Amino acid sequence: MTVFSHPEFDNHEKVLFGSDAESGLKAIIAIHLSARGPALGGCRFWNYGTDEEALRDVLRLSRGMTYKSALANLPYGGGKSVIIGDARKLKSEALFRAMGRLVDSLGGAYIVAEDVGISVEDLEVMARETDHVAGIPEGGVGDPSPATAYGVYHGIRAAVKHRLGRDDLNGLTVAVQGLGQVGQHLCAYLAEAGARLIVADLDQERVQRIVDAHGAKTLPAGEITFAQADVFAPCALGAIIDDASLERLQAPIVAGSANNQLSEARHGEALRNQGILYAPDYVINAGGIINIHHETKPGRPPYDKAKALERIAGIHETLLEIFSLAEREGIATSHAADRLAEQRFRAPPNQAAA
Ligand code: NAD
Repeated sequence: MTVFSHPEFDNHEKVLFGSDAESGLKAIIAIHLSARGPALGGCRFWNYGTDEEALRDVLRLSRGMTYKSALANLPYGGGKSVIIGDARKLKSEALFRAMGRLVDSLGGAYIVAEDVGISVEDLEVMARETDHVAGIPEGGVGDPSPATAYGVYHGIRAAVKHRLGRDDLNGLTVAVQGLGQVGQHLCAYLAEAGARLIVADLDQERVQRIVDAHGAKTLPAGEITFAQADVFAPCALGAIIDDASLERLQAPIVAGSANNQLSEARHGEALRNQGILYAPDYVINAGGIINIHHETKPGRPPYDKAKALERIAGIHETLLEIFSLAEREGIATSHAADRLAEQRFRAPPNQAAA
């Protein structure tokens, strides 16, 4: 397994491999860049086929967090961690304590949060060994999903303004794929704003709940991507935009919470060529991390929900800036977002980030 010549290696500042024989912990923590502050990012517990796959994921995801925090103007760098193995078999107090100690060994250079396979309870166990944990209820704000949904809602508003020239969503149709933690809250915001909903989920109970609550129409899960709608909001899977789906996409806007929506980077350009406005995923889904930033910590003011929500609503302005840049330069919105983030990487966060 190579590290420095790995295709996903991007001059990451630190890559820490850690293990604990007693609990079976095998973990990697990657810090991509810390010029803006400590590296904040989730811990993913996943049964990777090989160590190489785990390394690839942690290098890629930590780099992504650098971009996300920079564009959200947060005083953080990019970091991520992975625990390798079958979470159903391996989860134990000893393992999460060992992970907490591994995080602590970096002395605050990495702050761990939730990701796939990790619950708030697991984070709480890590927090017995380290102070460098974000997103737990004690002193923290807990589940980031409602905040993420709020940011996606404002992102959709920005995309509608830019692409359709409208300041409101009244009467517009939004197709929402995935009615989980984020999707269900997003539907509530959209319905409140007068949007018509078409929804799909693999779980029919979730679908029924949204039908009952908001009078949504439904489509089979395999059809929602191609709905006749003003906005397609992917809130389930990644890699939803690929050569095949591009042929059948109807909506002029793609704006949702799912991570890594583009199957490959070139699909950003393909969306642009088809006249479809894409709200880059890591910009529109930053509400959760912005909210976490506002959580109560020693030396920080108490959590102020109104302030956090105001900050999250700022995703609207950031996206408008990205859309304008893309238009001016004749580039994909995904490239414009990367470019803007790269400009901010090494700049200290401005006052608003405090
Ligand atoms: P979740 O697991 O709670 O919900 C996902 C939902 O999608 C589930 O209800 C699932 O049944 C459904 N689904 C899966 N495959 C589907 C398919 N083919 N068609 C239709 N529905 C399908 O996840 P979540 O927390 O709501 O996150 C949704 C997406 O947003 C993920 O990609 C996640 O990485 C991303 N995201 C979430 C947050 C957050 O705060 N939760 C933050 C940033 C990004």
